[in-house]
Amino acid sequence: MKCHICGGKLKHTQTDLPFKRDEKSIVIFKDLPVFQCENCREYIIEDPVMEGVETVLAGVNPSAELEIVRYAA
Ligand SMILES: [Zn+2]
Repeated sequence: MKCHICGGKLKHTQTDLPFKRDEKSIVIFKDLPVFQCENCREYIIEDPVMEGVETVLAGVNPSAELEIVRYAA
C-alpha cells in the first residue's frame, strides 16, 4: 500500500487522533491503529477501524465536550 498523496511508503503504526463528534464535542482516540506515510505524514484509517471509531462516537455521552478513549481492536 502506498501514500495517495506522495506515493511514499506507508507504515503501520498507532497514534492519537481527535475526532469531532459534533459542533461542541471532541473525542480523542489513543493508540488508534493507522497507516502513516513515512514521507509526508499523511495517514490512512482502514475501514474496520473507522467503523469502530464511529461506534464509539455514537456511544459517547453527548454532554461531554471532551472524551478520551483508548481504542481497543
Ligand atoms: Zn505521503
